[in-house]
Amino acid sequence: MDKNNNYSLMVHGGAGALDNIKDDKVAVRYLESIRSTLEYGREILEQGGSALQAAETCASFLEDDPIFNAGCGSVLNENGKVEMDAGIMDGRDLSAGAVAAVDNIPNPIQLARLVMTESEHVMLIGDGAMRFADHCGVELAPENYFYTEDRIEQLNQARLKHKIMLDHDDTEEDSEDQKYGTIGAVAWDLEGNLAAATSTGGIVNKRMGRVGDSPIIGAGVYADNETCAVSATGYGEDFMRSVISKTISDFIFMKDMDAEQATLAGIEYLSRKVKGRGGVIVIDKDGKCSSGYTTRKMIHGWIERGGDIVAKF
Ligand code: ASP
Repeated sequence: MDKNNNYSLMVHGGAGALDNIKDDKVAVRYLESIRSTLEYGREILEQGGSALQAAETCASFLEDDPIFNAGCGSVLNENGKVEMDAGIMDGRDLSAGAVAAVDNIPNPIQLARLVMTESEHVMLIGDGAMRFADHCGVELAPENYFYTEDRIEQLNQARLKHKIMLDHDDTEEDSEDQKYGTIGAVAWDLEGNLAAATSTGGIVNKRMGRVGDSPIIGAGVYADNETCAVSATGYGEDFMRSVISKTISDFIFMKDMDAEQATLAGIEYLSRKVKGRGGVIVIDKDGKCSSGYTTRKMIHGWIERGGDIVAKF
């Protein structure tokens, strides 16, 4: 079959040392999820679906998998509650939507898209976001959809250590041995449009009302057809302070870099300025895929210009 291969897709499922994934079976499970998400997204893009649709669908797919810290697998805050953040951006016209500190929403990324398309705002938070979800007829999920035994145990560990932890933190002191399990997707479609989506439960034992980088346009998510699409994962405070996604986009816009050069420059900036912990996935305006992280590993995968699926830590 003659195919137009001018599409690219990348997804991630968090960064960190991932030392908690010692068991091969667990590793395979993560990689399988990344692969099947990419397969799903590939179909959308091959059939002429938009980058926005592919990014949203892939993010929703990962939100529905409890192994990731987003949607049903979200970590718990200091009160043992789920508070999720998500952001989405369309590189065609810089339209964007985001929600923060929402609960009972099975797919916060879809609510973020509704904020983008059905409201005059970019971000809605807490009760206001929940009211908007109700107004849009979004079906809520019961509490037990989110609260897994693993997440409750993880919160108990964090409380015992009096620590705010990142997802799957299994260490005593060394912050390298952490996993930042947010999910994200970036896409470049047959028309050359870019889009990005990021969704998270945030960090374990976080303060009630804490918002991370994931829904912040320019920090955890960014897309501009003139430059690139970026989704980030890691210690959100570092990513907000360095406005990392927009910084990477600016490297392309102002210094004429490609995805790889801009990612390298962005990661160098993140490390040097704020000792940032985490990583990014990036697709540039020519469909080139790139990833970079300051942690030991990042769960991610990609299809570059219609090529084979690659999934790795
Ligand atoms: N960036 C997310 C946050 O700080 C956490 C993560 O990537 O896992 O909320």
